[in-house]
Amino acid sequence: MHASASESIEGIESKFVEVALPVPLRKLFTYEVPESLRGALHPGSRVAVTFNRRKLPGFVVGGRHALPEGVSRALRVAGLLESEPVFTAELLRFLEQAAKYYMHPLGEVLRAAAPALPSGAMRRLRKDGFLEAEENLPGQRVAHHRTWKVCATEEDAGAARLGARQKRVMDCLAGREFVLLEELRAQVKDPRAVVRALKAKGLVRFDEVEAVRDPFFRTAVSRDSPPQPTAAQAVAIASICESLAVGEGSAFLLHGVTGSGKTEVYLRAIDEARTLGRGAILLVPEIALTPQLVGRFRARFGDDIAVLHSGLTARQRDDAWQSLRKGRVQVAIGARSALFAPVADLGLLIVDEEHDPSFKQDDGFRYHARDMALLRAQYAKAVCVLGSATPSVETYHRANRGLIRLLSLPTRATGATMPEVEIVDLRRHRRGPTGHQLLSGPLHQAIGSCLGTGHQAIIFLNRRGFAPSLRCAACGSIAECPACSVALTEHRGQGALRCHYCDFQRAVSIPCASCGSSEYKRLGVGTEQLQKGVEESFPSAAVARLDRDTASGDGVEAVLDRLRSGDVDVLVGTQMVTKGHDIAGVTLVGVALADQSLAFPDFRASERTFQLLAQVAGRAGRADTAGKVVLQTYQPDHPAVRLAAKHDYESFFAEEIRDREEVGYPPFARLVSVRVQAGAEADARGATRTLAETARQHQAVREGAVQVLGPAPAPLLRLRGRYHYRLLLKSEDRKLLRNVTAHLAARIDQGLAPAQASLDIDPL
Ligand code: ADP
Ligand code: ZN
Ligand code: ZN
Repeated sequence: MHASASESIEGIESKFVEVALPVPLRKLFTYEVPESLRGALHPGSRVAVTFNRRKLPGFVVGGRHALPEGVSRALRVAGLLESEPVFTAELLRFLEQAAKYYMHPLGEVLRAAAPALPSGAMRRLRKDGFLEAEENLPGQRVAHHRTWKVCATEEDAGAARLGARQKRVMDCLAGREFVLLEELRAQVKDPRAVVRALKAKGLVRFDEVEAVRDPFFRTAVSRDSPPQPTAAQAVAIASICESLAVGEGSAFLLHGVTGSGKTEVYLRAIDEARTLGRGAILLVPEIALTPQLVGRFRARFGDDIAVLHSGLTARQRDDAWQSLRKGRVQVAIGARSALFAPVADLGLLIVDEEHDPSFKQDDGFRYHARDMALLRAQYAKAVCVLGSATPSVETYHRANRGLIRLLSLPTRATGATMPEVEIVDLRRHRRGPTGHQLLSGPLHQAIGSCLGTGHQAIIFLNRRGFAPSLRCAACGSIAECPACSVALTEHRGQGALRCHYCDFQRAVSIPCASCGSSEYKRLGVGTEQLQKGVEESFPSAAVARLDRDTASGDGVEAVLDRLRSGDVDVLVGTQMVTKGHDIAGVTLVGVALADQSLAFPDFRASERTFQLLAQVAGRAGRADTAGKVVLQTYQPDHPAVRLAAKHDYESFFAEEIRDREEVGYPPFARLVSVRVQAGAEADARGATRTLAETARQHQAVREGAVQVLGPAPAPLLRLRGRYHYRLLLKSEDRKLLRNVTAHLAARIDQGLAPAQASLDIDPL
């Protein structure tokens, strides 16, 4: 039997409780439990307490019989904000470990993991510390929106005489379990009247139901029938299922090329967990959490799935949380924060696209959901499956060392071949016929023949990695810091290049380290110019652009819909266009500047570039027509470019891991980044220097065992009116690094006003 919430958490009978508060202090606070609340508080309960004369929500962590030494009195708990504990025992234990690992205040960790407090809860507390029941409050009734669920009857519609609108509605119903009135509204005018008319003819039935506003459940999905697994899938499924049956907790890396059928493996594993009576969590990158993806899971498991996303209302989130905790719903799907889903008796944790940087939370409680999934699986005795076509270097290294079991899906499930990739060397191939900087002759030709056969093209310009850096005009390599091997960033006003790790500086005029030339080039072409270039080159083509300026939220889907319907021939854009790769008509993917992201000042720049290009190269032309990919680059020999084009992950990993070892970056060393900010630059720099001194004092144990790099200005020195500085600690000795970091945490807790500082353990 596995522990579940209700059976292992006892009501606290002791006189005092320890409470974690969402304040930037790494300690717990003791409060007295009033008589009326004795036995009603549990570990994980959300309570209201007074702190610094303000009322704050906090979480009970445990009971205690006496006050801590040196404390003579304690304030009383003001009230219990939710009748049931927010966290299960397993979840609370895990979150305590996560707070320790990241050296972050537990109260802030718990707040980040918990659903938002229902609004007004603080004001509903009665004298005895319990909540006023919601029904007793005026004006709380929620108006529910109602709609119709329409389905076809057994009658043969072919025999009836139907109007055009009626016919359209019958077409919508064909092969579907039901259709909602909302969906019909997009097809015909006044669908209510049309449905009534069809009902009179005995062709449809409808029920009035409560409308589901949640976009992930708006449309009905018909059940799928599971395909026969391929041989490789069968091996992976069997290994995971065996582990589930043992129930001891274990970890797998599912390394499968794009289209190899990883999702089918997830579906089977979740199915097995459910059969064993255990719950599952699936984490996906933010951008991948779409109704289509969720639809694949609903098709297999029905609608008893909790999709945790930012669009949920407080009540929906609370419902989802309750259903999961009680075990009524066993599967949770979501982005990063679904890691904290209170799934009862958690048996399986899956992280799809585990290499994706969006799993890292980058402010407040900075955690990496993939690393924490491994940790939570340990605590819950669950199986953790990390899936990717391009695993992170850290994860693959773990698999090589035997810490994670490697499962491989080396070919596409449908038997289709990988797309052909052509590398265009921009140093040799100059501009195409229209003279646009990023439309070379070969790319121009490829777009021409793609359009000529009636297909569509996507041209992708990666701007995520954009930083003002310099490229050698002769050899194409990027100016790097000699100490840190990351790209230097140009500070135009100063005529200087600076390193954002160690603050090394050099003049722009110094010759290139690889070839000695001293002619540099800046590359800052935007998607707008690229769109114009394509329009001028192909005047009869419909060209659309998708980037942060042109699309937000639903706008992305609207543009992709135009691509889907064939209204758009060429789509130009940033990262977001990669969502369009699955569209059947798209047979050409052009990457305008494949090595652009190599210029990002980050030691992972090469890895990110490989991942991005391999994913792009793997996605093109998934339907019956073979896809083609054109990569334009100034560095055709760079391993990230060359090997992504060959879909060769193993060789890339072998090169990359060698470099990491040589320069001493993760996974061979660990990093801690200290972030400092203040309203004035001098204050930010000063506080960072203070912390650097603290770190240097405490690393004296073994000279140089912990490197202290900085103070250095953050890549965005000035952000929202505040100045940001960084300090980077680096060490191969994990214990020593933690030790030094603990001293820094203590120094930060003492205060650095007017500056503020926080820690980022394992920064990205
Ligand atoms: P991945 O997640 O690895 O990129 P998908 O799970 O999306 O791959 O699968 C790619 C395609 O292959 C999908 O259309 C899926 O339905 C199909 N597929 C998966 N497994 C099988 C199988 N065993 N037999 C036939 N088709 C499969
Ligand atoms: Zn050069
Ligand atoms: Zn440097």
